[in-house]
Amino acid sequence: QCSWVHRREKERATEKAKTLIEMAVAKTRFLKPLQRQLIPLNQKVLVIGGGVSGMTASLDIASQELEVYLVEKGPRLGGFLWDIDRIQDGTHTIDILGDIVQRVEKNPKITVLLESEVEEVEGHGGNFKAMLRCKEDKLELEVGAVVIAVGAKLLVPNEYYNYGKNEKIVTQRGMEKLLREDFEAKKIVMIQCVGSREEKRSYCSRVCCTEAIKNAIYIKRTKPETEVFIL
Ligand SMILES: Cc1cc2nc3c(=O)[nH]c(=O)nc-3n(C[C@H](O)[C@H](O)[C@H](O)COP(=O)(O)OP(=O)(O)OC[C@H]3O[C@@H](n4cnc5c(N)ncnc54)[C@H](O)[C@@H]3O)c2cc1C
Ligand code: SF4
Repeated sequence: QCSWVHRREKERATEKAKTLIEMAVAKTRFLKPLQRQLIPLNQKVLVIGGGVSGMTASLDIASQELEVYLVEKGPRLGGFLWDIDRIQDGTHTIDILGDIVQRVEKNPKITVLLESEVEEVEGHGGNFKAMLRCKEDKLELEVGAVVIAVGAKLLVPNEYYNYGKNEKIVTQRGMEKLLREDFEAKKIVMIQCVGSREEKRSYCSRVCCTEAIKNAIYIKRTKPETEVFIL
């Protein structure tokens, strides 16, 4: 502020420095000591979204003896995983979800609110007020933290590869449904990265590669005569 900026005017720089110090000292007359404040933290947690992420978060939080409100807009817990037949190691999702849902529903620290949505949240970390719509009723909750676990939205690839115009063209979600129904096909082609890794959506979904490989292996195991290509 002084010596560097006014290095060619040493005496005036010194005067300026003295004035700045005087101003700073004068200001101290108006300063007040910092007060130690205790702000009570609400020990309840609101988890929005009853998929596998929301349920796992709720169980973890409840295991720390904190009370949890788990809000799910749908009629049941479980989320997107219900649409998947089995995971990579062959375990049926119904077995995974059945167990987690039961543990959540039986946990006395977790209150599950189905067909409910959060309409508004106000406040700050430690003290939030959330306004909810639970079926036909309104509910106000006071919580200390909010976990958002609302999942992702699936792309409906209408503008790609005649999707929607031919029932044989399905997404991997549709493929999961077909696998449950035991369908027949001579050849299956899986096209990767549809709608992502391009200008509009440059990111990678991080699920479809594993999903394609999982389904391809399953198809080859159960129907070895079916040819599977992954592009
Ligand atoms: C085609 C496909 C295949 C996959 N296959 C596998 C696999 O084989 N193995 C594997 O491990 N993973 C797989 N995944 C990934 C896995 O399905 C997801 O990672 C997982 O289901 C995500 O869980 P989630 O709880 O984050 O989200 P979701 O399951 O989507 O749950 C979010 C929940 O939040 C609710 N919600 C949304 N908005 C609100 C709101 N405003 N208020 C209240 N509730 C709300 C929704 O109704 C939903 O129940 C696959 C994904 C896809 C797309
Ligand atoms: S997970 Fe695989 S198929 Fe899906 S966007 Fe990423 S690279 Fe493409």
